Amino acid sequence: MGLYDYREYIANEKAYRELLREIRWTNEIKCPKCKHYKIWKLGYSNGYKYQCSDCSYKFTERAGTIFEKTRTPISKWIFAIGLFRIGISANQLKEEIRVTYKTAWEMLKRIREAIKDDFLMNQLSGHIEVDETYFGGRRKGKPCLPLHR
Ligand SMILES: [Zn+2]
Repeated sequence: MGLYDYREYIANEKAYRELLREIRWTNEIKCPKCKHYKIWKLGYSNGYKYQCSDCSYKFTERAGTIFEKTRTPISKWIFAIGLFRIGISANQLKEEIRVTYKTAWEMLKRIREAIKDDFLMNQLSGHIEVDETYFGGRRKGKPCLPLHR
């Protein structure tokens, strides 16, 4: 899927969390700690909460991913992951998703590290495809559609 196909998820954080869950746990939800499959759903408040019936670990679909402990909306992460693939700088990313330079830099660093060995991240980055001419085209001054904010 291209970035454009993600517009629903970018506009709707809840839809994106659903997607995250689908990618991460294709069929069944698995405990990130003990890999047990018997999981209780604890309800929804700012994302679903789950609890493992075996080790009692409470978690969300973000647990153990780069999205855990981030105050940056997931929608911005989608852009960052997509743009990372075509080699965006922290300075460019800062402008594209309107975060501080420090946040942009930190996001790229986390993506770079996670993409190596994180399953979810690998899946996500495989999903999100950005046409390389997007930035290449703009740099050469050719007309180019802006990203919707
Ligand atoms: Zn468990």
